[in-house]
Amino acid sequence: MTDTPSSNSASRRPGPVLLVEDHPGNIRTFVDYLSAKGFHVEVARDGREAIAKCRETAPAAILMDVQMPIMDGLSVTRVLRADPQLANTPIIGLTALAMPGDRERCLEAGMTDYLPKPARLSDVLAALERHIAPSTLGGPLDAP
Ligand code: MN
Repeated sequence: MTDTPSSNSASRRPGPVLLVEDHPGNIRTFVDYLSAKGFHVEVARDGREAIAKCRETAPAAILMDVQMPIMDGLSVTRVLRADPQLANTPIIGLTALAMPGDRERCLEAGMTDYLPKPARLSDVLAALERHIAPSTLGGPLDAP
């Protein structure tokens, strides 16, 4: 396995990804995986902590569990969207409620995208790379 030591791959990554998730096993899995992919990951374990961390760290993107204690991911999303600093931050919802209408509820609350749980790690990575602005990733743009 060739692992070219480069400050380049690190500098391609923007500011932190905020993982909002209350399940310890999921937190560990996501943090391990995304860290290995070069992301700086911040964690919030409930909705209230999520709002505080968002204001503190201005994340490049947010992975948002929907079912959480204190404040669910839909309510957190509405609060964030009302904040001009966070109105455009990509929010990717993660929900185990694979029910019809779930996706719509996430998008209605202001989320950018949605993945059903359990989400494949490669799908989570793809969603992050899709929604984090290419300019902040520093990669070449394949504009047609
Ligand atoms: Mn949860």
